[in-house]
Amino acid sequence: MSTHTDHETPHGPPVRRLSEWPDERLRELAAQYGTPLYVVDRDRIAANYRRFDAAFPDARVMYAAKANTGRAVLETVLAAGGEIECAARGELRRAVAAGADPNELRYTAVNPPAADLDYAAELAADHPGLTITAGARDTFDRLAERGFDGRVAIRVNPGIGTGHHEKVATGKDAKFGVPSEELVAVANEIAAGFDLVGLHAHVGSGVLHDDLDDHCRAVSRVADLAREVETAVGELSFVDFGGGFGVPYRPETQPLALDHVADRLREAVGDLGPRVELEPGRYVAADAGTILTRVNTVKESPAATVVGVDASLATFVRPAMFDAYHPIRNVSAPDRASRPVSVGGPCCTSADVFCTDRPVAEPERGDLLAVGNTGAYGVELASRFHSQPLPGEVALRDGEAQLTREPESLDDVTAREQSR
Ligand SMILES: *Cc1c(COP(=O)(O)O)cnc(C)c1O
Repeated sequence: MSTHTDHETPHGPPVRRLSEWPDERLRELAAQYGTPLYVVDRDRIAANYRRFDAAFPDARVMYAAKANTGRAVLETVLAAGGEIECAARGELRRAVAAGADPNELRYTAVNPPAADLDYAAELAADHPGLTITAGARDTFDRLAERGFDGRVAIRVNPGIGTGHHEKVATGKDAKFGVPSEELVAVANEIAAGFDLVGLHAHVGSGVLHDDLDDHCRAVSRVADLAREVETAVGELSFVDFGGGFGVPYRPETQPLALDHVADRLREAVGDLGPRVELEPGRYVAADAGTILTRVNTVKESPAATVVGVDASLATFVRPAMFDAYHPIRNVSAPDRASRPVSVGGPCCTSADVFCTDRPVAEPERGDLLAVGNTGAYGVELASRFHSQPLPGEVALRDGEAQLTREPESLDDVTAREQSR
């Protein structure tokens, strides 16, 4: 058994905190490329992927592209020997553009639009190794209509989720996967028309140590279901337990000890013929990214000190959408005395705040702030709300910066509009 601890792995530390980014380099990047700016560290992406992959030596680890589908990220994962899970035609397209072999890609279809199925079926016609995962009879019917009879996996809804998921409305969870009660019947039908190779369930999100018991219960249930399918229908080549591996967003939260997680999962899976597959997204990308943003306004009001910055919920929506905590650092003056401030952007909604009453090294107009852990579900969720151009992105490798996404201009914002 491995003796790696929380603090030491051959693939870098298990978490990279915002304060560990080099302030001076970040200031240079902001000066050169402007703000708001996404920064992604390819070395950290590679280290995260490799650390995860090494912790699960018997499993096939696919990166869930929707966390960050940036070209630099996908190329880095592929170069580290990783494979890619896509959940939309645009992700498939970008994975192929980044050099992925379509035969190795996984496409997970959730209420897939026709154009997505067209794209996946066409790709599979030339690349029969492509595997399509679906969680509704309808989706399989629609694949058959397109002449697809290739490799498929069934997404099952095990009826139990992880942690907070149990509390959300069941109707919300029912969106994902075939109900477990119908699984064997569906598997029999599907095996008649397709090459049924796997079972899939993505049962958690943001799973940290406290959620591990629940997560393992769900994993155990899925493994049981896989054994039922094998008995009733025949052998599978894999069981895919999805992603959901959490990262510590708050400074006091400890990172996952992957070796411990791996032991717990192995125990929960039990004796299983098919290969185990995992699809981490957030774990690979989150702490490899930061957003740089410039302070434009400091306003003292009786209720709060309000710090206005040029990033907004259009740049990065997780705080507004999920009440997510993201660390904020004054990169211009990290040693200044800190004071409680609210940091927000230029959007006309009270949801446009990155923090409220949080101690930050006193920000002054013109200072550069960094918002940490923005590598996952950051740039992918950026919007043009308030007609803001989408931000640029630079990728770092060995400290060298490359502009990987040009910041949009106002011309880009208006380019596709027609006048009568
Ligand atoms: C989103 C998603 C993942 C990745 O989830 P994380 O929480 O980012 O690890 C994996 N598999 C599927 C099918 C997903 O939809």
